[in-house]
Amino acid sequence: EIKRRGRGGARYFSEELFAEQKRNFLIAQRLKHAVSYREFSLAFQPIVSARAAQVDSCEVLLRWSTPSIGPVGPDEFISIAEDTGDIVAIGEYVLDTACAAMTSGIISRAVPTVAVNVSLRQLVSQKFSSRVRSILDSHGMPASKLILEVTENIFEDRNREVVAWVLHELSDMGIAVHIDDFGTGYSSLSRLNEMPIAALKIDKSFVQNMSKQETAIIQGSVMIADRFNIETIAEGVETLEQARKLQAMGVTSLQGYFFGKPRPSFGAKEYSEAMSGLRLLHDSDISV
Ligand code: C2E
Ligand code: MG
Ligand code: MG
Ligand code: MG
Repeated sequence: EIKRRGRGGARYFSEELFAEQKRNFLIAQRLKHAVSYREFSLAFQPIVSARAAQVDSCEVLLRWSTPSIGPVGPDEFISIAEDTGDIVAIGEYVLDTACAAMTSGIISRAVPTVAVNVSLRQLVSQKFSSRVRSILDSHGMPASKLILEVTENIFEDRNREVVAWVLHELSDMGIAVHIDDFGTGYSSLSRLNEMPIAALKIDKSFVQNMSKQETAIIQGSVMIADRFNIETIAEGVETLEQARKLQAMGVTSLQGYFFGKPRPSFGAKEYSEAMSGLRLLHDSDISV
């Protein structure tokens, strides 16, 4: 009985695995043409200040839909693009389009900075910082308006000398580098000393379940950031209650559905939506 169940389980598993590999293969193939077929689009989500009634930034999130497969989320296709190396060209497209959005008014001119996600593979690719420089120049955009978000895996990488070098080049240009999904990876905190990091983005998994342990991790992250004189941004803020707790813990900025979902543009309407969330947060200060 057990044996039969075990075997059935194994067959089921390998069929699942086969289907997944097939899908990954199809995605990898389609991704190669996705830029030239104009299958990508960008979504924009506000990052707001926990300390003042202001929108700090807008994060750019990549969206993809291809006829034969339909919409595929970045959590699925980004890692495939990293494996094939296509992330380098895709990342350039994102950066270029984000700068265009910033300088053409697709992102409201009242938003001071735009935050773009960058994969490790991109960061260590040939001439990354000079490519960024020329994209900025082609849009007449000052480097101080750009934030690059990288995940903690930059700390564990065997090329960390290269990583440190590139990050210094970027920060010398005036670009801020933020650590995304902080707390989920294996970051060697001593590396914070060697790297020019401007902010830690606390992962949404800690924000969305703020029980004892998660709260301790958030408090710890804020403490570390304070010591290093850098900012903290909490992602995945969906309720006023979460926003208030994070604000009370000293988190600098907030991002999440409560202030606005990722949308195809960030104009006057989306801006005032974010501001009304902020008003609720800052008005509630007075009543405490
Ligand atoms: P991320 O950079 O940590 O982005 C935050 C993710 O959380 C986004 O998922 C966003 O839609 C989602 N999110 C924001 N607020 C909330 C909230 O209140 N509740 C919940 N449940 N979720 C929220 P998305 O757009 O699916 O992106 C997933 C990940 O894919 C990103 O995580 C980022 O790591 C990666 N990614 C997206 N665009 C790019 C890109 O252009 N380049 C690279 N290299 N990676 C990207
Ligand atoms: Mg991000
Ligand atoms: Mg994140
Ligand atoms: Mg994340």
